Amino acid sequence: LEWAAPGVADLRPYQPGKPLAELERELGIRHAIKLASNENPLGPSPKALSAVSAALPGLALYPESTAPELRQALARHLQVEPVQIILGNGSNEVLELAARAFAGPGSEVIVSQYAFAVYGIVAQASGALLRLAPARDFGHDLDAMAGLVNERTRLVFIANPNNPTGTHLGRDALETFIDSLPAHALVVLDEAYFELMNAADYPDGLRWLPRFANLLVTRTFSKAYGLAGLRCGYGVGHPDLIALLERVREPFNVNTLAQVAAHAALFDSAYLQATLANNRAGLEQIQRGLLRLGLTTLPAAGNFIAFAVPGGAARVYGALLQQGVIVRPLQPYGMPEHLRVSVGLPEENQRFLTVLAEVLEKS
Ligand code: PMP
Repeated sequence: LEWAAPGVADLRPYQPGKPLAELERELGIRHAIKLASNENPLGPSPKALSAVSAALPGLALYPESTAPELRQALARHLQVEPVQIILGNGSNEVLELAARAFAGPGSEVIVSQYAFAVYGIVAQASGALLRLAPARDFGHDLDAMAGLVNERTRLVFIANPNNPTGTHLGRDALETFIDSLPAHALVVLDEAYFELMNAADYPDGLRWLPRFANLLVTRTFSKAYGLAGLRCGYGVGHPDLIALLERVREPFNVNTLAQVAAHAALFDSAYLQATLANNRAGLEQIQRGLLRLGLTTLPAAGNFIAFAVPGGAARVYGALLQQGVIVRPLQPYGMPEHLRVSVGLPEENQRFLTVLAEVLEKS
């Protein structure tokens, strides 16, 4: 073990939400629900499913390594050039590519307390020094983050909105922050929930790309587009930045089915509209229910809400599991009093709220 690369020895693996099939096996039931990983409860887009079926006979061949058709379509959709886009095996891989290309021994990476856990993992695994900025009201404190910038800073991770806290940064504050950074500090602006956001001051990071060459915006097909199981995400930035990331990308990183499904999902606007409508209603339903139970919530953002169960989060998590309802404990994020729930179908949200009420009443 002492031969592990520096930084790896004290890493803890990412802890995903408990898989649905695992819980159903454990409980011997078939009707558990998973509201733990901010997945799309509508299932994949029918157009994506047809595209996957049509692509099955081609699976003996390697995928097209640079995903040209998907990249073209995305470029048109986002109004950028194809050379500004890199595709990843989930946006997680794009985060890792950024660390591989820019961080490493001797460099520093800035991350906020309570930020999405993958940032710390990819930064530390690269051998970089992780600089953790204390949060403000559970959100990114840009002043604290700016205070950590020095000549060794290579990456600054920003989650907008942040998962798991639901906090988001407004347009002006974020633009001023990016503008203040030296050119050697790359901002990775993670917009995994972009399509699901409707706050008036929520910025579209792509609009800043003409101004900032040190900005990489990441997005994903895992959330609004309902393709978490296929793993497809992307980064958008200056062509020179993308070219650097391409140097460290493994060939064939995005599989054939992911490429065709993502392409089809991009053009399924009926599915996206249904997703947004279900999500808006679900966030309201869950938030109202949690407030009625006297629980304090963090901001509802994207497709999830974190809420506090002072002194009882671990027990409530376990009791919900026993009733076949999987939510996410936030103890690994250093928030042992909080749980996070993802928006499901209306009846799933209701089942979560009903079981939660019963569990709280018993305690
Ligand atoms: N960033 C954030 C903030 C997320 O919440 C997630 C998914 N949980 C991701 C990135 C990664 O998503 P994926 O790799 O599926 O694109």
